[in-house]
This record gives sequence, C-alpha cells and structure tokens, in this order.
Amino acid sequence: MVTMDKISNLCKSRGIIFQGSEIYDGLGNTWDYGPVGVEIKNNIKKAWWKYFVYNNKSTYGLDAAILMNPKVWEASGHTASFSDPKMDCKECKTRHRADNLIEDYAKKKGLQINVDAMTDEEMQKFIDDNDIKCPNCGKKNFTPIRQFKLMFETSRGTVADNKDIVYLRPETAQGEFVNFLNVQRTMRAKVPFGIAQIGKAFRNEITPGNFTYRTIEFEQMEHQLFCKEDESFAFYNEYKKKALDFLLSIGIKQDFLRYKDHDKLAHYAKCACDIQYNYPMGWSELNGIHHRGTWDLSRHQEFSGKSMLYMDPITNEKYVPTVVEYSIGADRLMLAVLCNAYEEQELEGGDTRVVMHLHPTLACYKVAVLPLQKNLSEKALEMYAELNKHFYCDYDEAGSIGKRYRRQDEIGTPYCVTIDFDTLENNTVTLRDRDTMEQKRMTIEEVINFVENLLK
Ligand code: ATP
Repeated sequence: MVTMDKISNLCKSRGIIFQGSEIYDGLGNTWDYGPVGVEIKNNIKKAWWKYFVYNNKSTYGLDAAILMNPKVWEASGHTASFSDPKMDCKECKTRHRADNLIEDYAKKKGLQINVDAMTDEEMQKFIDDNDIKCPNCGKKNFTPIRQFKLMFETSRGTVADNKDIVYLRPETAQGEFVNFLNVQRTMRAKVPFGIAQIGKAFRNEITPGNFTYRTIEFEQMEHQLFCKEDESFAFYNEYKKKALDFLLSIGIKQDFLRYKDHDKLAHYAKCACDIQYNYPMGWSELNGIHHRGTWDLSRHQEFSGKSMLYMDPITNEKYVPTVVEYSIGADRLMLAVLCNAYEEQELEGGDTRVVMHLHPTLACYKVAVLPLQKNLSEKALEMYAELNKHFYCDYDEAGSIGKRYRRQDEIGTPYCVTIDFDTLENNTVTLRDRDTMEQKRMTIEEVINFVENLLK
C-alpha cells in the first residue's frame, strides 16, 4: 500500500524532492525539487499549459509579477480577511488550526460536521465541549482562537524608515484580473475568453505534514474565464469536466478522483466545487472550480477607478464580465501524480520491485541507455547522443543490469535501451518496457519513432 512515508523516502533517495535547506535542518513546510523532480514538475506544467492554453484558441497566457500594488489585495479582500483560525498549545508551544482540529476529531469519531460553516465562537465551543486535545502533546491548554494572517509581508525601498509594505501574492489569480483590460485590448479578445497563468504563490500556512501537500510556497496553475453571466453556468460545468479530463489525460486513475461541492460559498460566489484526490491521508482538495460572478472585476473597477466594462462588438451591449475560475496547485498535482504512479510488485523469487507508472509525457527521462558491459560504452554513448536529440535520456553504466533497471523503474523511466554485442553488428538494441518488463529487439530509428509517437 502506498503511504506518504514511502513516497517521501523514494523522492529523497531518487533525486525527486528534498527537504528545503536540509543541511540546516530544514525550514518547515518548504521543499526543493531535485534533478529528477524538476523535470517531472516541468512536464506537468507543460502538459497543463498545452491542455488549457495551446488547445484553447481563446485562452491567452500571462506571467504577472509576484509583488503587486497593495491596493490589489485591498480590492480582492485579502488584506481584510485572508486568515486562518489558529490556536497555540501553551504546553508544547505548537500551533494548530481550529478547523483542522475539529475535522480530525470528527473523522476519528465518524461525525459529519460542516466546519466551513462554523464561526470562530462555534468552533471554540465545539473544541471546549468535546474536550479536544493538542495532537502533539495530548494536553488541553490552548490559547483562544485568533485569526492568523496568511499573507507574507515584506517591504520595498532601501531607507529603513521609509519602507512600503508589499505582499508576496497568496494566489496568482489577481494577476489575471488586473490584466483583464490589457489582454482583452492587445489580443483583440472577444468575451468569452480565458487568461491562464502558472506561477508561485505564498501562504503563511501553519499546519505542516503530509509531505508537499500544504506548503508555504507553491505554484498555482490557474485559468480565469471571462464570460457573459447567462453563459456562465454552462462554462462552470464545462470547466468542471475539463478539469477532470485533464487529470485523466495525464494518467490519474478515475477511482481516485471525485467532485466535492463547497458547503459554504463566498458571498459573491454562485457555486463552487473542488476535485479531490484520494491521497494516502484521505480525500483532499486537489483543485477548485469557482463561479466568482462579477466580484473581481467590479472590485478592481471600484478600487482602481478604471472601467472594466466590456462592449459586445455585435450587440454593443456593455457589461462587466463574469468569471469562472479553475485553479490547481502544481505541487499538489505532482504529489497526486507520484501517489497515483507508485506500485510495489512482488516478483518471482520473493523480490519486490517498486515501479512508478508515470505517464511517458511526465517522466523525467523517456529512455535510459544501458550498455550491458563497460566495453560497450563507446557505442552506447553514441546511441545515447542520438536518442537525446529527440527526447531527454539518461545514461547509466554502473552496477548490474538488474539494479540499473530497478533504479529507472523507481523514477518512472518508461523505457530502457540495452546495448549489447549485436548492437555493434547491426545497430539494433533491446527496448525494455517499464510496466510489463517485456523486451523487444529493434533499430534505433524504430525506438525514436516509437517513443516520439507516445509523446505526441
Ligand atoms: P485549502 O483548502 O487546501 O487550503 P484553498 O481552498 O485555500 O486550499 P485555493 O485558494 O482555492 O485553495 O487555491 C487553489 C489551489 O491551489 C488549491 O486547489 C491547491 O491545489 C493549491 N494550493 C492552495 N494552497 C496551497 C498550499 N498551501 N500548498 C500547496 N498548494 C496549495
């Protein structure tokens, strides 16, 4: 069975994900992607961009600045209310989210509780009435619930007493909203159209654990669709479906995905849902699809004084477009991809093989070139150079062939090419399939065509 420990150990030992600042004992909730991990994550982002930007002729890409005018966060409501209900344990000095304490308690007791709909006072009463204790030390000596701001503050300017506070953006979405007019005008875009962006976001999250699931620095992949209100529900449903189809297209198993409608809606929202993935710790949010009404553009109109009215070129009707938002964390998706791919197989003779069934487009290396013996390395390097022109390959001549196969299986390399003495004679190689372990003899050109076809 896949556990988060197995995934994080594999990631650490195979250059996929390391603890952030590890040699200094880390920095809570930060992670570094290693040589293999950065490729997998980049491939995930590329697959997303292809699906939502290149395959959608009315979606435009964007890369907005992380630091934005602080008025953006006033308009969006983040300055006033982007916070979590926190409690500190006075005994062991750990910090907890009140809503998480209640959720965990409810899960253990098999209770159905809609914690999203509870006020701070209701949460406090629930924790007191049910005698919920600190999960770290088991004592009950919490500070009262206080709202803890999630936005990281920093400052600009060099003169110490003349610094302006700026925020590290807690979501990428505002970049799309504040550029609505720029994109619409320069691309001569007609509503409905979308703006998509991939970028870093920062939240001062206080609940660690579950590996990379909830981090203080993460990447979001977001698509904001600007449309007419009367078409917005159809688009909302379309994006629910697209979001799921994308996950299936990169190999996530359907049984591990489900929709979850939000119990509590923001006051401006008409409907919202998440897609959850069944991670080792249970069903948890992977992405969100939100009908945001005209809230975002209207607020930016109000705070910036710039008109966000769009004029329909055919009917001349003027209106503020409605937004349907689709947002997914690249890191959370990568974690789902890794959990989804992991398998331990019992082999004949009692051996166990760990294999990551990554979709070939997501795998770091598409092919690993392995000479059967060291004295074949010249030919093998020639083959490696040829294949590497077409797709990213690995080359490994150290250790037994069995161990080299296992290493590639563990990082999800879909194919291994072995070079033997016949290769010197007729330029053919053996292609080994990661999933079936079957081997086929073919020419190097056939390998190139075969793999390129898979990556299309
Ligand atoms: P959660 O309820 O898990 O805190 P959220 O509902 O606040 O998430 P959104 O603000 O809707 O999340 O952000 C959109 C997406 O960004 C989420 O679906 C998730 O994939 C990702 N995301 C949000 N917060 C984090 C985080 N701290 N670490 C990693 N990914 C995150």
